[in-house]
Amino acid sequence: MPADAVPTSPAPPPAGPRRPASASAPASASVPSSAPVTVTGWGRTAPSAARLFRPRTYEEAAAAVRACGAHGARGGIARGLGRAYGDAAQNAGGAVLDMTGLDRVHAIDADGGTVLCDAGVSLHRLMEVLLPLGWFVPVTPGTRQVTVGGAIAADIHGKNHHVSGSFARHVLSLELLTADGGIRTVVPGTPLFDATAGGMGLTGVILTATVRLLPVETSWMSVDTERARDLDDLLARLTATDRYYRYSVAWIDLLARGAATGRAVLTRGDHAPLDALEALPRRNGQRPSPRTGAAASPGTPPSGSLWTPPSGSPWRASTRVRAGRSSFGEAFRFRRDMLASPLEFRTPSLPAAPSFVPDGLLGRTAMGLFNEFWYRRAPRARTDELQRLSTFFHPLDGVPHWNRIYGRSGFVQYQFVVGHGREEALRRIVDRISARRCPSFLAVLKRFGEGDPGWLSFPMPGWTLALDIPASLPGLGAFLDSLDEEVAAAGGRVYLAKDARLRPELLASMYPRLPEFRALRGELDPGGVFVSDLARRLGL
Ligand SMILES: Cc1cc2nc3c(=O)[nH]c(=O)nc-3n(C[C@H](O)[C@H](O)[C@H](O)COP(=O)(O)OP(=O)(O)OC[C@H]3O[C@@H](n4cnc5c(N)ncnc54)[C@H](O)[C@@H]3O)c2cc1C
Repeated sequence: MPADAVPTSPAPPPAGPRRPASASAPASASVPSSAPVTVTGWGRTAPSAARLFRPRTYEEAAAAVRACGAHGARGGIARGLGRAYGDAAQNAGGAVLDMTGLDRVHAIDADGGTVLCDAGVSLHRLMEVLLPLGWFVPVTPGTRQVTVGGAIAADIHGKNHHVSGSFARHVLSLELLTADGGIRTVVPGTPLFDATAGGMGLTGVILTATVRLLPVETSWMSVDTERARDLDDLLARLTATDRYYRYSVAWIDLLARGAATGRAVLTRGDHAPLDALEALPRRNGQRPSPRTGAAASPGTPPSGSLWTPPSGSPWRASTRVRAGRSSFGEAFRFRRDMLASPLEFRTPSLPAAPSFVPDGLLGRTAMGLFNEFWYRRAPRARTDELQRLSTFFHPLDGVPHWNRIYGRSGFVQYQFVVGHGREEALRRIVDRISARRCPSFLAVLKRFGEGDPGWLSFPMPGWTLALDIPASLPGLGAFLDSLDEEVAAAGGRVYLAKDARLRPELLASMYPRLPEFRALRGELDPGGVFVSDLARRLGL
């Protein structure tokens, strides 16, 4: 069974207690186990075989951890929905604890805006239950199909990192099942919290978390789109105006060369306030005119931008929004439906990707044509477009198993960050990727804000670029090794949740707090109960 086929469907509520087991949970609690299965990350490279446990209660989780530490066992690692691209949630010859069977939402404080849930709950499920109450997850990555445990363990970032930081910043407390089978309540500001946030599951199994939420008035996004003609233009636009947007991301055409190197489409916005829906045209011909000049030139703040720093003007400013509908009847129905259920969470689904796509289909020519089309179809500058949450945040989730399109050999997602002031390194790397003609249709640039407290958390203030590359590309390993060296020399780092191939000798310079992490792990888990392929490969 391939790893991305690990069962992930919602489980019926377990019969066990609603709160985690105590440290004295009986070791005899029954633990379902199975014969070894093949496990991979989302990129489908580097498969390895492990025994899969799927605890349904906290006692079963504790018993599974004890079994992982038994004499002769090769340890264990927690797994969520397997969306880490590389080998972080696999453990060759040992055990993998599929946490998606523990997926209860225990309590929502609808006034205070917090949720207490099991770590196996997906962000998709949280959105389903929270949006109707007017709350949204504080940070979401490019897919909703990740668990809360996976979000904390990788300390994931979203398009709002420059404003909100990464996921763990919004965690008020968590319960961690440690190597001794005991459970600890872990709160921010402690070494164990900072080792666990971004710690890739290596400090223990996260059982529950309490997360602070973001209030929203609608399930719609108000989005501004603009094109940047090259990388310099893109960096200038982001630097000058990013602070006016809660969410911000740029798609880069990495197959463009020469003067167009780094040309991009910038998409930025915020949650649409209710009055943005109310402002939709009532009749054909009454469509409000779009804002003009918004962020069209670097240095010019967008006129109606939806987010400003706390000291500035209120970010829920009234906006003029285009519905993108033409006929009178259509526009009328659209507006009526939106206003009837402004917090409805709708997620379109397209047919799944075929199980096998010939390698040549995603060659340079096809990707080049796709990129050309994608760049040209984007408006030069468009403001206040209403988009569904799923369109804005998670377009790829609409195609189940889209990772299959890279063929049997899978793909690598390469993501790195370099600090502000290191734009030269970023330019050099983008030039090299463009010159190398890496076929990539998914290349995304974001501007990170303040770094996060997690010792192995990925974000640092600066620029992060992520791109998908088919693993079958000749010479890819050596090419990426040389990019790693460039990143490390610039004081940057690669993202462990995406990695499947980094050489260990570069790790310490990329993650300066690695020694503290190793020391804490050594004390907490002297027998090495928690281990993964990633941990073995990099000596974490
Ligand atoms: C399409 C796509 C877009 C993405 N976009 C982004 C993005 O924008 N930003 C970003 O930061 N990441 C992004 N990612 C990566 C993804 O957010 C992370 O890899 C995330 O950790 C996956 O969560 P998961 O539940 O699938 O965990 P898994 O992939 O199963 O595991 C990831 C890590 O979390 C650990 N873990 C999982 N559950 C637990 C638990 N209960 N206790 C302890 N450790 C646990 C595992 O041991 C492993 O180390 C993206 C991935 C995809 C496929």
